[in-house]
Amino acid sequence: MSQCLHCSATAIYNFHVLEVQTLHIRDISGERRVQALGLFQNYAICRNCAETQLQLTTQFNWTIIKKIFPFLIIFLLGIIVLYYNKQNNLVFFLFSFSAFFCGIVGCYSHLKKFFSNKKYYTSLEKEEALLKAAWDCILMYAPKKDGDNDLTYIPINETTINFDVKSLMQSYDLLPAIAQKTWELLYSKK
Ligand SMILES: [Zn+2]
Repeated sequence: MSQCLHCSATAIYNFHVLEVQTLHIRDISGERRVQALGLFQNYAICRNCAETQLQLTTQFNWTIIKKIFPFLIIFLLGIIVLYYNKQNNLVFFLFSFSAFFCGIVGCYSHLKKFFSNKKYYTSLEKEEALLKAAWDCILMYAPKKDGDNDLTYIPINETTINFDVKSLMQSYDLLPAIAQKTWELLYSKK
């Protein structure tokens, strides 16, 4: 029986994944990435954690309020500064305008992301939505760093095994040579 990556309860959603290690190198020519394939790992999530994650994705909750709250404060700050700017000082006026803009864009982008995720997850069958939510848990709770390298994960399943090199590059932000290596590894599992 596998254990849940998050709470150690008995897990029912099992994932076989391939680690991708990415090192970001900044020098005078700018930023570039070096990638390497890591280990195959097995991670799992319990039904309770998957259901909690699905609720967070599909129901308006404190997490989304916490995300938009700083932008509401910035927006309100813009209103307060505009209200007290009786002398029409240009600097204060520009500050108000920037605060309005920043506040509205910040709230809009978070709410747009929430509602588009909600629409997507509610369009799925319950079990499929729970499986997706379990994968979201893996991305949240699996290690994100190995030394200086960022860690990302490719699930090994029927979909990814049938991906071509270009789809792997686009779906998992892989460099061409690493996407080719990944494809060869996945192809050998067919
Ligand atoms: Zn759990």
